[in-house]
Formats: sequence, structure tokens, C-alpha cells
Amino acid sequence: MDLTYTDEQKAFRDEVRAFLDDKLPKRQRDKVAGGKRLTKADYEEWHAILNERGWLGVTWPAEFGGTGWDAVQRHIFEEETTRAHAPRIVPFGLNMLGPVLMKFGSKAQQDHYLPRILNGDDWWCQGYSEPGAGSDLASVKTTAVREGDHYIVNGQKTWTTLGQYADKIFCLVRTSKEGKPQQGISFLLIDMDSPGVEVRPIVLIDGEAEVNEVWLSDVKVPVENLVGEENKGWTYAKYLLTHERTNIAGVGFAQAGLENLKRIAGLEKAGGRPLIENPFFAAKMAQVEIDLMAMATTNLRTIAAAAAGQAPGAESSMLKIKGTVIRQEINALTRQAVGPFAMPFVSEALDEGSNVEPVGPDYALPATQAYFNNRKLSIYGGSNEVQRQIISKTILEL
Ligand SMILES: Cc1cc2nc3c(=O)[nH]c(=O)nc-3n(C[C@H](O)[C@H](O)[C@H](O)COP(=O)(O)OP(=O)(O)OC[C@H]3O[C@@H](n4cnc5c(N)ncnc54)[C@H](O)[C@@H]3O)c2cc1C
Repeated sequence: MDLTYTDEQKAFRDEVRAFLDDKLPKRQRDKVAGGKRLTKADYEEWHAILNERGWLGVTWPAEFGGTGWDAVQRHIFEEETTRAHAPRIVPFGLNMLGPVLMKFGSKAQQDHYLPRILNGDDWWCQGYSEPGAGSDLASVKTTAVREGDHYIVNGQKTWTTLGQYADKIFCLVRTSKEGKPQQGISFLLIDMDSPGVEVRPIVLIDGEAEVNEVWLSDVKVPVENLVGEENKGWTYAKYLLTHERTNIAGVGFAQAGLENLKRIAGLEKAGGRPLIENPFFAAKMAQVEIDLMAMATTNLRTIAAAAAGQAPGAESSMLKIKGTVIRQEINALTRQAVGPFAMPFVSEALDEGSNVEPVGPDYALPATQAYFNNRKLSIYGGSNEVQRQIISKTILEL
């Protein structure tokens, strides 16, 4: 298997770099590099810049207005955008709902929603999880009862990322209690401004309210908002999850994190010498770098296999576990390197234009914020424990 880039792929990488040099606003680059809080307007601005270049539908085929890129091109794009400190592409409409509509949506739904996702007219959020239905997603209890040409929806979704910004939510709802739990689930598109939808923020340990509860009380949803067939939602939900888990290894994020760690360890002192020269700390950094290099190679092997038409199997689970463990270890070492200045966590100082002063060097606050925020990595997108179960069943056949 050839893991080196072809001349064409190298030329593509240069094209992406030139685009980022030219078009990524410095304000955004600085915010991402400095770990500042991004606003809805920041994400929308970056999406619009990418869309203008035709590079927003990274995973979409050309017929739907996407790039039509193969797995290697997508990987190069992700690597370069991360390295350049571009904001991430918000995945809910683009990487989750979009592919589901392309495969299972009606022509009317495709014609209506897909261009609106690219143009930034609709901000989507994901209404899968509920209290009691996370890893065990088939237990969803939110009900949708058909009444004429509407469904009446009642229930509660939770952990809804950036739901406070969303115009619409795609939900798994229970339309039948017959048979196995998976057989009574449907996939419904709901306007967030419908009467009966209430968003309540959940503040996490980093002081951020990036997730929410979404309460649905007698919400009237037109039947044309059903995707595919009633009670077949489990199939669409699983298909969406395979797209949710793209770029799961997060190699670019880990590389950027490691570079930052090395920089900080070069600036911080231990016993009068730079921390990076401390054998104990240097050994920990070396170990995480070795792990990262091994994972990056595994990731490239998976990408090469995908480019050759092989669907990734349990490798996704391996990459999810290794990727998140490595990123969390880098976060922990960075926080350790920052030392006592990691303690006074003044989260307000992360807001652009805030007059609250952070304590300590400018890298201390983002290091603590990343440490707290990235606790989520091993939970969402299928928790690491659940990924281990998948590996034990499919690879080890236990
Ligand atoms: C920051 C964040 C953002 C999120 N964003 C969204 C979103 O936008 N939309 C959305 O729908 N959901 C979202 N989620 C929800 C996420 O998908 C769930 O948290 C996740 O699936 C785990 O479910 P749970 O929280 O209900 O935990 P549970 O499923 O109750 O798990 C609790 C513990 O038990 C372990 N466990 C569970 N089942 C097994 C098993 N079979 N074998 C071994 N161990 C097991 C888990 O690993 C975990 O440690 C988000 C979560 C977080 C933390």
C-alpha cells in the first residue's frame, strides 16, 4: 500500500494552502490559534468563504453541489485547514443530515434543504440522544403520533450541540412500540421555532454552554418532514453515524496540539531549565508523539483503503479510541506544563473583546479550556467503552 502522496495530490495540497493563505481571515486564524471562543457569526463567515470556493460540501458528491473529493483529498483538506487554524466545519447539516437526505430523502427534500445547508440558510442540530438513550440509542422515547397530515411530537432530547444557534433539528422519534425497539423509530425534521420547542442550556465544566436540552411539547410537524419511510429511521440513523465518524482520528488536531505543547514546554521552566529538557517530561512527550505517529500511519492506511473502495470497518473504532486518548493526553501534558497558571480558570476572558484579564501567560487559559472541553471526545460519537466492545466482537470475536 502506497502511503506517499502523488504529484497530483501534492499539487492539490499546495492549492489548499494557497487558498488558506489568501482567504482565511486573520481574525479567525488568531482566534482559533489562541483558543478563543468562536461565535455563530465566525462559523457562518468561514462556511460562506468555503462555499464561495465550492469547498464547503467536503464530503458531498458534485451532483449535489459538493466537492466530489476522494478520501485522500478530504484528508489533505482537513490536515491543512487544521494546521492553518481555520474554524472547523460545523458538521450537523453538512456531514450528518446532508448525506442522509442524499440517500434517503425525497427529491423535494433534497431540492429544498441541500442548497439551504450550503448557503447557510439553515443551521441544523442533532436530536438523537435523550436521558436514558445515548449509547443505547434504540431506547428513544420521544413520541411522534400521526394526526391527519401532521405528527404531534412530545419528549426530550439532550446534549444537543449548538442547539441554541439552530433553525432546525433532525430527530429520532418513536412512531411505534410494536416489535423490536429499532423497528419503531422514524427520522423527523423539526423547525426550532415551532410552538412547543424549548431550548435549555447545559453549562459544562469549561463554563461553556455548547450543549443543550431540547424539550418538545405537542410540537406539530408536517408529515412531509418525515425522511424516508415511517419506522425505518434506525437504518437512516445508522447511516448518519458512519458519516459522523469521518475524520474520527483527529490527526490534524493532535498534531497542532503537540506543536503547541512543545512550544509551551520550551517556554516554561522546571528547576531553572526549560521543561522540554526535563527527562521525565520529555519522555512523556516522546511517548505521545510516537503514539501519534503510529496512529497517523494507521489513519493513512485506512484512507488508502477507502480510496481503493474498501469501507472502513472496526478500524474506525480503533482510530476513535487512539485519537481521543492521544488528544486527551496532549491536553493533560499541556495543562501540566502550564503549571499553577492552569488553576485560575477565567473562562470569560476567552470571549473576543472581553475586558476580563486572563491570569498568567496567554497560553495558560486556552490550555485549561482545551483540557476541560476535550473530556467530551471519549464520550460522544460513540463512547470509547462502546468502541472497545465493537473491537472485541468484530476483531477479537469475543
Ligand atoms: C459534549 C457532548 C456533545 C454531544 N452532542 C450531541 C448532539 O449534538 N446530539 C446528540 O444527539 N447527542 C450528543 N451527545 C450525546 C452523546 O452521543 C452521548 O453522550 C453518548 O452516546 C453516550 O451516551 P450517554 O451520555 O447517554 O451515556 P450512557 O450511554 O448512559 O453511558 C454511560 C457510561 O456507560 C458506558 N457504556 C454504555 N453502554 C455500554 C456498553 N454496551 N458497553 C460498555 N460500556 C458501556 C459508557 O461508555 C459510559 O461510560 C453529546 C455528548 C457530549 C458529551
